[in-house]
Amino acid sequence: MAADPSAPCADAPSSRLRPHTRRQPWILTYHSVTDTGDDPYGITVSPRRLGEQLAWLRSRGLRGVGVSELMRAHAAGRRDLVGLTFDDGYRDFLQEALPVLRVHGCTATVFVLPGRPGGVNEWDPLGPRKPLLTHDEIRRVAGAGMEVGSHGLLHQDLTTLSDEELRHETVRSRELTGELTGTLPEGFCYPYGTLDRRVAEAVRSAGYGYGCALAPGPLLSRFALPRTHISQADRGVRLWAKDLRHGLRHGAVPGAGARTADPVRAGGPQ
Ligand SMILES: [Zn+2]
Repeated sequence: MAADPSAPCADAPSSRLRPHTRRQPWILTYHSVTDTGDDPYGITVSPRRLGEQLAWLRSRGLRGVGVSELMRAHAAGRRDLVGLTFDDGYRDFLQEALPVLRVHGCTATVFVLPGRPGGVNEWDPLGPRKPLLTHDEIRRVAGAGMEVGSHGLLHQDLTTLSDEELRHETVRSRELTGELTGTLPEGFCYPYGTLDRRVAEAVRSAGYGYGCALAPGPLLSRFALPRTHISQADRGVRLWAKDLRHGLRHGAVPGAGARTADPVRAGGPQ
């Protein structure tokens, strides 16, 4: 794909080597960071591989930050940041991911499940069972300078819930997370990346500032941000290909950087 000639030229010189012009933020999705021996869902990256991936980003002039910081910086014209997100709130974030992030000068957004404190990932039938952060550990994540966002209360497919249940998952998880960290969360992450218009609207009405999806299709907006799943297999060329694919698939996110944008209609077919 040829570079968009209308794109701003304020990027660092190394951006000329990048596969696209970064007109829209790139957000990476991680889950668990630990030994990858038993990993049927491909949600685990070893601490060593995470370090290699962050080093790869740095070699391309990019640094990982939480999504709120990324969105603010992107709106201000910065193009040297990448969003790092860790879904499900696994306890190994504190033990394994955080030290690696610190070595590389990165921050991240951790999407927690305040309705399952100290629980496990029961929603993955094949296992293995991985411990989730306790409430105290969620506080520690926030105290370590990471952004803490909500992944709902219990990790449910929100599109299957009644309006009342949906409100509970979005509103109550925001309140609980805010009570734990002292700050009402800006970010929400849809369990399984699954959403529809009703769910996106519920997240917006609950007071969140953005919502992370995976491949939101026509719902693409500030409340349905696309993200790229990162696996243990992702190294230089594969990461480069994923970056390229992101740039080819997604134009600028409608409403990104504009809090007043209509999240549901923006980018939608109506
Ligand atoms: Zn999840």
